[in-house]
Amino acid sequence: MNTHIYFDYAASTPLDPRVRDAMAPWMQVEMAANPHAKTHIKGMQASHAIEKARREIATAVNTDPSRIVFTSGATESNNMALLGLVKHLKKIGKTHIISSKAEHKSVLNVLKHLEDEHGFEVTYLHPLTCGGVEADMITSALRHNTGLVSLQAINNEVGVINPTVEIGSALQERGILFHVDAAQALGKMAIDLSHTPVDFMSFSSHKAYGPQGIGALYCKDNILTPIMFGGGQEKGLRSGTLPTALCVGFGHACTLIDRGENSRFYSWRNQIIEHLRAANIHIEIFGATETQWQIPQILNMRIPDIDNETLLSCLHQFSLGAGSACSSKNTQASHVITALASEKAAREAIRISFGRFTTENEINYFTQQFIHLIRDIHDQQRKAS
Ligand code: PMP
Repeated sequence: MNTHIYFDYAASTPLDPRVRDAMAPWMQVEMAANPHAKTHIKGMQASHAIEKARREIATAVNTDPSRIVFTSGATESNNMALLGLVKHLKKIGKTHIISSKAEHKSVLNVLKHLEDEHGFEVTYLHPLTCGGVEADMITSALRHNTGLVSLQAINNEVGVINPTVEIGSALQERGILFHVDAAQALGKMAIDLSHTPVDFMSFSSHKAYGPQGIGALYCKDNILTPIMFGGGQEKGLRSGTLPTALCVGFGHACTLIDRGENSRFYSWRNQIIEHLRAANIHIEIFGATETQWQIPQILNMRIPDIDNETLLSCLHQFSLGAGSACSSKNTQASHVITALASEKAAREAIRISFGRFTTENEINYFTQQFIHLIRDIHDQQRKAS
């Protein structure tokens, strides 16, 4: 097997060819139109296609389409929710926020901005060793002026699932707003917003086999102040011309969600772990041990005393992750693994993430190559010592 094998689905899933086909007409010359143009049929057709996509997204998470606001991706959705709440939270005098050290940078860096520029206080919970956060960790950190909790549904580096429904219920009882970054969750776990006490939820299309550059924010109530100003699209919350083809693609990707896929991913994840263990390779796995709290598509592990740069350079035939893709240009160790283990562990951790287009042969081939490589490195280490 000589071709390159893509194992970085957590960073971006491949575009499903069915999604590409659904988008294609909207990129043809004859379909050119601004979907907000009310003066001609072409604009109205594009607008109808966008509203259909909005309904498809809303159906996938069981909510009303009027609560779905299109954005460029989860980074923008996170910014829109957190920055958009500044005025409301200040007005009600609730300027304490709770989050966790394992959040994505698109949450952590906004929170830092709120501390530095807007006088907010933020408690960053130290995650459990699995990377997750439990409801009682949140309730113990509450203060009289806590106005908001921001937490991811699934961690993008280790794949641990947070108990969002339980946390949301505890917060709702106390009248505290809850923002959930669900960038990794769409399509991987059931999301039922009609039964989940969440005020804002961020989504990203390119984590669910849709195109890059489009996402959404679920807003239960109309309390956000816009962070972008212009033509007043998306009910004034997000000005700017909507990209018809991207919206259509995101909507179509939502109709193709098939959580039945998870069963083969669970068996592949176990297969890799079992084969490595059977080959006497000592691995430390990050994430939850109970399947209920762990998505199967992500396997983050370290081989003690082998740094991930060595592994990645020897395994260049595979697209693997170490740390999050967005920060992989600088050689900083993953802030998530550092928070739940140590910086040394973070410099050794590699993430394999797979999905819809992965084959069992690819999984087996990777496992074999990985075992050979680790044996070689251990031999060299033994000779050198
Ligand atoms: N949050 C999480 C948990 C993510 O995994 C990502 C993507 N790595 C983002 C936010 C940002 O998403 P996007 O690329 O759509 O801006």
